Amino acid sequence: MGNGLVGTISGTVKHRVFNCVGKFFNVAPAQRKLVGRLMPQSIFTLDGRIYEPFVPHLVVEISKVCPLPGKKGAAELIAELRSGKLLAPLDAGNVYQAMLAEEKSLLDLASTGQNLRTLTRRQLALQGLVQELGYSAVENRKVATKCILQTLGFSGVRVYDLDLENRTWEHLYTEGEEGQSRFLKPKVPAEQSEKAFITKLAAGEVLEDVASRARRDGLYSWVADSHGWKSLHIPDRGKCDFVDKDQLVRDEEGDAAQGRAGVGSGLAREIFYLVFNGASEQHKEIYMITNWATGRPLFSNKAQDLALLRTFATSVARANQLVAAYQKLEDTSVHDELTRLHNRRYFNSKIESEFQRAFRYNHPFSFLMIDVDHFKSVNDTYSHEGGDYVLQEIAGLFLAPDSLLIRKKIDTIARWGGEEFAIILPETESEPARLVGDRIREAVSAHNFTYKGNGFPITISVGIATYPFHAKSIGDLIHEADTAMYKAKSKGRNTVVVAASPSAA
Ligand code: GH3
Ligand code: MG
Ligand code: MG
Repeated sequence: MGNGLVGTISGTVKHRVFNCVGKFFNVAPAQRKLVGRLMPQSIFTLDGRIYEPFVPHLVVEISKVCPLPGKKGAAELIAELRSGKLLAPLDAGNVYQAMLAEEKSLLDLASTGQNLRTLTRRQLALQGLVQELGYSAVENRKVATKCILQTLGFSGVRVYDLDLENRTWEHLYTEGEEGQSRFLKPKVPAEQSEKAFITKLAAGEVLEDVASRARRDGLYSWVADSHGWKSLHIPDRGKCDFVDKDQLVRDEEGDAAQGRAGVGSGLAREIFYLVFNGASEQHKEIYMITNWATGRPLFSNKAQDLALLRTFATSVARANQLVAAYQKLEDTSVHDELTRLHNRRYFNSKIESEFQRAFRYNHPFSFLMIDVDHFKSVNDTYSHEGGDYVLQEIAGLFLAPDSLLIRKKIDTIARWGGEEFAIILPETESEPARLVGDRIREAVSAHNFTYKGNGFPITISVGIATYPFHAKSIGDLIHEADTAMYKAKSKGRNTVVVAASPSAA
């Protein structure tokens, strides 16, 4: 979609460049094609010009196809391109976009140009790094911090997760900064602190005119970029009443509790934050950026630095969007939509790996098959929606944060199909599995099911089989549990039955 647009427009641009070159050098059409192939899309703007920093490269390449009369010829060609209004100043964001479309680095290419400006060099170094951004939030954080330290040239960065619902901050990653974060576990920051203030900014609780007055007064500048990220620049923390002054002193003079030596008096006053959307709606990912270790101001060439920063932050924001979309995709592929429990597909891979592990180490594990009793009559009496409600309620008994029915992160429950659920209990023999089954049976029968004002009881039947005691393969194990479950039905339902012991053959 986007690539197509770049392709079409730059096709026209190339044409204009050929015409310009052709007019000047009388280049044969066949040679023009060759020139065309030497020009990557990334060096063109969408509105039909060439980014100036790439002109030396272009001239070098053209001279290979149609020899220029020395330095003078090169200068004349550049003048011609300029008079044809074919040159544009570098726009980092667009170059990056075009590069992504081409999927190759222009680093080598541009280094052939002799007048490469510092900005271009830093820009391209940045490209090399941002292209490493991918689908993993953890890896992306590492790439992003590398960019901040190496290409953008700051001395320290800390990354936090801000949970807007609970207003907690959690430290995720540090580089170039010494000492221990006090947010290794999610924690609500002190009322009088930068973090509490940023929480308010991110939650949209600071009025726009308050923020613009602060910007005018030079206290801080809170800026929302249109590309999905925001920034907060505080030139002097000492002047802001939301800053914890004791913390500022500790940052400068050292803090034994945090294992910090201190950066020196007056050197921890400037700070910069980037705020991105995190992996889900209520989360923000926050980069705290400093230059304290070098003692230099954050921005030496503000226009240049900000241009780079913008490209960087936009790339990270896009990568975060990708990560979120990818996680959502992964999530729906392993979860059942109605109940939010794991689906059959996930369960199959899980039981396979549990079986391999149990087989290899000669350990037991139990399998529980659960079927809702007389579910058809629920559907008949309360409609299909009433039946769905029951399934969601049963799932809720397991999904509740304080649920103790099965061991979180150890046991696996999945929707097996219809009104059937399956559970894997690793490292569990039949007798303890029976206790778990009975606990679940009891919880369901005691639960208050109320649909559209009607309360009614629901019960389940549970069948249990244990590897390797009842069966030596996954297929047999499931079959044994299923048979036990039907035995529970025939015994009158609301019952747990363990598979019959294998006859000593
Ligand atoms: P039993 O005690 O013997 O298990 O009786 P039962 O009525 O539960 O019998 P059975 O297991 O054969 O019937 C299950 C019914 O569950 C059949 C089907 O119409 C219904 N069902 C399957 N999937 C869904 C679902 O996703 N939502 C709803 N509402 N009903 C479903
Ligand atoms: Mg059934
Ligand atoms: Mg049933």
